[in-house]
Amino acid sequence: MTSSRARLWQQLTKLSPLCSGSLHEQYLPCGKSACSCHDKDKPKLHGPYYLWVRRIGGKQVNRTLKPGAELERVREGIANYRKMQALIGDLLTQEEALVLEGERASVGEGKKNFKRRYQSR
Ligand SMILES: [Zn+2]
Repeated sequence: MTSSRARLWQQLTKLSPLCSGSLHEQYLPCGKSACSCHDKDKPKLHGPYYLWVRRIGGKQVNRTLKPGAELERVREGIANYRKMQALIGDLLTQEEALVLEGERASVGEGKKNFKRRYQSR
């Protein structure tokens, strides 16, 4: 395994917490018609509320979160999930290049170019 691939795997193991989906900040009116959130000119909406939207088995799952430790963990988890996707993308690029390198080596071309391309990353 090349050192850069080992490093990518190592970075992946550190990604915790891990959460899929996205967070949406919301400001909402309440049910009391006399409340300032229903003001016609300058409605003062309540919030922020945070909606965590993700998919589980093809179904959208929503979860409302209050500001606090749980929300921050989900926020961190989502950031980690995005890092994970970027790392997996890099890893896949390298793995796929290796698959092709085997083919190129067998026809006797491209191996030097392949290495040079990788060192510049
Ligand atoms: Zn209100």
